[in-house]
Amino acid sequence: MVESAKNYWEEEQGIFPSSKVGKFLFALCFPGDYSLGMTNLGYQSIIRLLFEAPDWRGERFFCEYGSRSLESGLPLNSFDMIGFNFSFELDILNLLSLLQEGGIPLFARDRKEKDPWVISGGPAATLNPEILAPFMDLIVIGEAEEIFPLILALWKEGEEKGKSREEKKKILGNIPGVYIPGGVKPLYQGGELQGFEAEEGFSFPVKRQWVDINEFETRTFIYTPFSYFQGASLVEVSRGCRYHCSFCAGRNIYHPLRNRSLELIEKMIDHVSPWSDKIGLVGADLLSHPALEEIIKYVFKKNKKLTFSSLSALSLVRKKNLGELFCEGEVETITLAPESGSFPARMVLGKGLSNEEWIDLIKELLEQGIKRIKLYFMLGKPEGGVEEDLEFLTKLVARIKNPQQVLVSYSFLIPKPHTALSDWRTPSIRDWEREKRIWERGLGKLKIPFSGESPRLAWIQLLLARGDRLIGEKIPQLLSHPHPWSFRAWQSLLGELGRDDEWVRSPWRNVKPWQVVDMG
Ligand code: SF4
Repeated sequence: MVESAKNYWEEEQGIFPSSKVGKFLFALCFPGDYSLGMTNLGYQSIIRLLFEAPDWRGERFFCEYGSRSLESGLPLNSFDMIGFNFSFELDILNLLSLLQEGGIPLFARDRKEKDPWVISGGPAATLNPEILAPFMDLIVIGEAEEIFPLILALWKEGEEKGKSREEKKKILGNIPGVYIPGGVKPLYQGGELQGFEAEEGFSFPVKRQWVDINEFETRTFIYTPFSYFQGASLVEVSRGCRYHCSFCAGRNIYHPLRNRSLELIEKMIDHVSPWSDKIGLVGADLLSHPALEEIIKYVFKKNKKLTFSSLSALSLVRKKNLGELFCEGEVETITLAPESGSFPARMVLGKGLSNEEWIDLIKELLEQGIKRIKLYFMLGKPEGGVEEDLEFLTKLVARIKNPQQVLVSYSFLIPKPHTALSDWRTPSIRDWEREKRIWERGLGKLKIPFSGESPRLAWIQLLLARGDRLIGEKIPQLLSHPHPWSFRAWQSLLGELGRDDEWVRSPWRNVKPWQVVDMG
């Protein structure tokens, strides 16, 4: 096991928090595999912050290596603090398995004075920390660049002064954006959440934090050729998005839109250029960056190829000349998200652009030389069904001739906390399964390659995304279940709380678990 980990880190380049001398040990845990974790810029940012933190030394943990660190095979329970990047709700079982395997008490209330602290941050933790609340000593709400160094410094100071676990929690709980779940109690009546009660000294609700991204770099800090992003080095161009798609949680987590200065972006490109022949520009709304053309030209000046995260079609139609620039940078695939084939449905989702405009845009990009367009669609939408989606794709295929130039990826609409659709009652899992069948049959007939998600996993994601602390408390029992991802396993867990499928589909009636967060 450790042997193959060695193969990974021998190929890496960059800064290594494990190479420092440090009195205190931090476990950088990613509840997924190595390739995915190393592609995550949030995880990469924590690597940088740990590298800069005085007296702290860090080592990485990924699912495939279990509870031993990647760098030196140290066991998880020898660390002072264990930090998880929680980006995706379904990662919760991986997170708990890692803690269990490492011999760490799963529930924060069971940890003794000398047990490691378990903390978490990341987009899913910010959206709804309550599902994680039973297991975490502390949760970071919002962007961590300012909060995380303070947590490390104040914890270290508390430790050196001999403060108890509870005393340190009170001290850290005063940092804006820090949520100490043990200090806030949810109040229930008849299984319905009525409110929260915060102990003296703990803040509630916790205000989401966001930072000035021109104060620091966000990029690949440890480069690996084994990352998911086609071996590219990543550079964050902007954070946030100016659009208001009704289903989009990312927009609210990273609001407001902030663009990095051209000077800082060029500096970041300089740093990552020696590592790979491809630069990935990252930003939910990077096409709105006022200096985008200069940034792309700078990448070319360095003789690098270009790649992107998903692009906003609304911005792309206004900047048609970019298609040619992309081809010059040998961009092979462009990812766009029409979400639906129906214009009224797209308006409800906030996606704008008529069907004709979409088809023209895709056709033009292919004619300019882009080899493949990846399109994201959503099933189970409030408006417009799969029939309209397939009609749209039929028209598209007729215009572009070769359906293999399009790759369709679909998921189910999960009404996420803090979005305009958070209170939406979703279709039943049977409806999702029916839509999936029609959709896949239609795509097969059109000869369009596709990939998609399982309705059952989407249902579990829905349950976790809008779930509360009572559900969180029950999840550890799945760790000993022979089929922890089976529908039946989660249904029986819900049954113990007197809840069912109807409950999962429906919005909270009164207080919502995510009201512990003030999104600002
Ligand atoms: S354009 Fe993309 S990032 Fe922006 S709000 Fe819409 S879905 Fe979210």
